[in-house]
Amino acid sequence: MRKPFICGNWKMNTRSECGVALAKAVAAGIPAGSQVEVGVCPPACYLGAVGSSIAGSAVGLGAQNMLAEADGAFTGEVNSAMLNDLGCRYVILGHSERRQFFGETSEGVAKKTHAALAAGLVPIVCVGETLEEREGNQTEAVVAQQIEGSLAGISAEQLPTVVIAYEPVWAIGTGKVASPEQAEAVHAHIRKLLSDKFGSEAAEQVRIQYGGSVKPGNAAELLGQPNIDGALVGGASLKAEDFLGIIAAA
Ligand code: PGA
Repeated sequence: MRKPFICGNWKMNTRSECGVALAKAVAAGIPAGSQVEVGVCPPACYLGAVGSSIAGSAVGLGAQNMLAEADGAFTGEVNSAMLNDLGCRYVILGHSERRQFFGETSEGVAKKTHAALAAGLVPIVCVGETLEEREGNQTEAVVAQQIEGSLAGISAEQLPTVVIAYEPVWAIGTGKVASPEQAEAVHAHIRKLLSDKFGSEAAEQVRIQYGGSVKPGNAAELLGQPNIDGALVGGASLKAEDFLGIIAAA
């Protein structure tokens, strides 16, 4: 009942021309009648160009971050109204790179999640443990804290719109993918947390993506797990062939 959702996180990569070409190739490569939801998240400066190139296609546009605040004196930032204006459907929030390099906290992510939902955007809320935390048997506790904090104040009615991305930090961009069993264990844990907090009906509707070195060769096994409902794809989303391979595996 949960529609698989494959989303590309281009991070700080591409230029206008090759980003447009990549998005077009992805849109052209999705088989007619595909039951997989697909999104691409280019850098903010290319949202307009990429968005125009996939308008009316099966590929949705997403941003990699936004500020929760309304228009005003926030030099260098963009907000949900601007993402709406550009035709975005999704926004990635609280990616581990933002938590790690830009000091983002779960509290701040919750503010952004509220703002995204209020603007009609689908927030893709990222959580995940570091290698040190995994080795210290902290995975479940860390993920629970991040889920609790990042979804603070969200209602059970709002929850089904939210997408969660479980991305173990040690698997991102490292080629070290979590095993399907490792990933499924955390996904099941997240669904249990959501069920305890929001009720099972709302929790059952939430898509939980896995992210971290997803490739065409490992996607089918990961996506075959009962609680893995999609993927947030970094490196492999930069090549249309690889990204389409992952979509096909879903
Ligand atoms: P990766 O990145 O697929 O390159 O590991 C995933 C992500 O950070 O979203």
